[in-house]
Amino acid sequence: MGSIKLEGVEKWFGDVQVIKGIDLDIEDGEFVIFVGPSGCGKSTLLRMIGGLEETSRGAIRIDGRDVTAEPPAKRGLTMVFQSYALYPHMSVRDNMGFSLKTAGAPKSEIDTKVNHAASVLKLEQYLDRRPKDLSGGQRQRVAIGRSIVRDPTAFLFDEPLSNLDAALRVEMRYEIAKLHQSLGSTMIYVTHDQVEAMTLADKIVVLDFGKVAQVGSPRELYERPANLFVAQFIGSPK
Ligand code: ADP
Ligand code: MG
Repeated sequence: MGSIKLEGVEKWFGDVQVIKGIDLDIEDGEFVIFVGPSGCGKSTLLRMIGGLEETSRGAIRIDGRDVTAEPPAKRGLTMVFQSYALYPHMSVRDNMGFSLKTAGAPKSEIDTKVNHAASVLKLEQYLDRRPKDLSGGQRQRVAIGRSIVRDPTAFLFDEPLSNLDAALRVEMRYEIAKLHQSLGSTMIYVTHDQVEAMTLADKIVVLDFGKVAQVGSPRELYERPANLFVAQFIGSPK
């Protein structure tokens, strides 16, 4: 299961309010995109869901359970970081298994989970390589593999493709769509790239400086933008 509910969520940094009361329902298995201009609060909201940032007001529920005060490790979610966060001195296998190892999982379980993730991500023949001996796309897949082994309730991605070149970005976008199909997990994905949002999302949440401007399917947003901000951002005529 992986339903996520936000109820009147606010974030204040000192006396500056950056998230201004957000209500949102994310269903189990949905691919949800947070999109909006730089500085509008996408990363902050994602980090609040993951527990990396405290929620100032309001509540976050995962499968009905109030997790607002829970630390990240208890929420069962995983944050996929950009590939430069890999450990350079470790093999692909050890990078992917590291979090399980530090959690004290037995070697047989780690092997099974790493092998499964490697097969989902087509990394089987690269397990003994170091990150520096992989392509950019392969490295990004390893970063995703580190999350898959933990069987998360949901995946949280913060602009995972932003430091890849354009061609690789298109390829990885396709890979992530396939991954969502094969795992069926809830995914929340932050981007400021409209094309990425329109091609990947079941549901798009357009953020306008701490508020939700509109929530809808790519088609709804394109055909019936709620206001000029959404229309201009999604690139539809209004
Ligand atoms: P986005 O990811 O949409 O570009 P962010 O969530 O990173 O936006 O930032 C939203 C706003 O919150 C910005 O104005 C940013 O400067 C501010 N902000 C983010 N993190 C902090 C922090 N730790 N302290 C103070 N302000 C912050
Ligand atoms: Mg950001």
